[in-house]
Amino acid sequence: MNTVKKVKITPADKVLNLEKYIFVELDELKAQARKRGIDLIDLGIGNPDRPTADYIVKETIKSIKNPKNHGYPNFRGKDEFQVAIKEWMAKRYDVKLDDDFIAQAVNGGKEGIAHATLAFTNPGDINIIPDPYYPVFSRATKVACGEVYYVPLSEENDFLPDLNSIPQEIAQKAKIFIINYPNNPTGAVVTKEFLEDLVKFCRENEILIISDLAYGEICYDGYRALSIFSIEGAKDVALEIHTCSKTFNMAGWRVGFVLGKKEFIDTVFAMKINFDYGTSTIMQDAAIAAMRMPYKYVEATMKKYQQRRDYLVKELRELGWHVRMPKATMYLWIKVPEGMSSREFCTMVMDKTGVVFTPGIAFGAGSEGYVRVSLVQDEKKLREAVKRLKEAGIRYK
Ligand SMILES: *Cc1c(COP(=O)(O)O)cnc(C)c1O
Repeated sequence: MNTVKKVKITPADKVLNLEKYIFVELDELKAQARKRGIDLIDLGIGNPDRPTADYIVKETIKSIKNPKNHGYPNFRGKDEFQVAIKEWMAKRYDVKLDDDFIAQAVNGGKEGIAHATLAFTNPGDINIIPDPYYPVFSRATKVACGEVYYVPLSEENDFLPDLNSIPQEIAQKAKIFIINYPNNPTGAVVTKEFLEDLVKFCRENEILIISDLAYGEICYDGYRALSIFSIEGAKDVALEIHTCSKTFNMAGWRVGFVLGKKEFIDTVFAMKINFDYGTSTIMQDAAIAAMRMPYKYVEATMKKYQQRRDYLVKELRELGWHVRMPKATMYLWIKVPEGMSSREFCTMVMDKTGVVFTPGIAFGAGSEGYVRVSLVQDEKKLREAVKRLKEAGIRYK
C-alpha cells in the first residue's frame, strides 16, 4: 500500500499576521484595468522617472572595471564612503559630525529602517509611528513582534504629530519613534521647534528616534530640509536614514546609509550582519560619486519636479480640488470627495480616465479620506492626465 502522509508546512505567524501589501493589490488592479484596454497614466508610484546622471553612471563603470571591487565589500562602508558622507552632511545640512559618528552602508533606506527597527525592538515593545506612514515603519515593528502606537497626523496640525496627545504610559514604555520629514505621503515639512520638542520628549522617555530623510533633497521654493543632528542633544537618541533613491534618481541601484553614533550603528551592524554581506563596493562608489558631483545635477531634477508640482496644483485647483502646495517631496496629498472612500475614488478615477492615484489607506487607517498623487511623469503625460480628468468631469462641488 502506498499511503503517502499528507505534509503541511506552515509559514511563521509573523508572516501570516502581516496584512497584504497594498501596493501588490494596486498592481493587480492596474493589471486588470490594462486587460480591459485602459491606457494607464500612473501617478500612483513613488519611483523617480528620470535617469541617473551620466556622471554617476560613468564613475560607477570605472568601479565595476576594477577587479579589487569584485570581492566582498567592507561591511560598514569603506573609508572613502564614510568621508564622503561627512562632507555631504556638512555641505547640505550644515551639520558637523564628530569622530564618534559613523555610517552603516545599506541596500536602500527601506532595508536600513527595517534592520534598525529589528535591532532595537524586543517582543512586546511599543514603537510610535505617525499615521500616515511608510509601510515598512509598522511592518518592521510587527516582524520584530513589537507593537505599534499610531499618532494621527492631521491637516490642522500641518501633519506634525501632537506629542502631548501621547499618553504618558505609552511614552514611558515606547522604544522607537519613527519620523519622516519631508513626509511621504503628505508632503509636509518639519519645523526646527518640532524637532527640538521631539528630541526633548525622546530624551526624557529614553526613546530612539529614527528619522527617515529619504526626501531630504526634494525641496522647493528655497526650503531646506533639516537633519535631526542639527538639533542639540539628538546624537544620544537618534539615527538618521539617507538614500540615493530619490535624491539622485537611483531607486534601482539600492544604496543608502544609516547615520548615528557608533554605539547605535554597532547595534544595527550586529543585527544586519546576520542577513547579508553589506553593500557592494561598486554601489558605495556610485553613492560617493553622487554625493560629490556638482550639485547642479540635483537641482535640475528638483526644477523639473517643481514645474510639475506648479502645473498640477494649478490645474487640479481649477477642477475644484482642495490641494495643498507642498514645499517638499514629489507628492500631492489630496482629500477625496465627501462620501467616498479613498479606494472607491481611486478605482472610479482609474476606470473613467486611466489615471492612477494611490489610495490614502495604503499609508494607514488614519489616511482614509485622502489620495496621493506622484509627480513622476513627464509634462506631456501630466497634461494628458489633466485633460482626461477634465473631460471626465472629475471635479468637486
Ligand atoms: C522611497 C522611500 C524610502 C527609501 O527607499 P529606498 O529605495 O529603500 O532607499 C524610505 N522612506 C520613504 C518614506 C520613502 O518614500
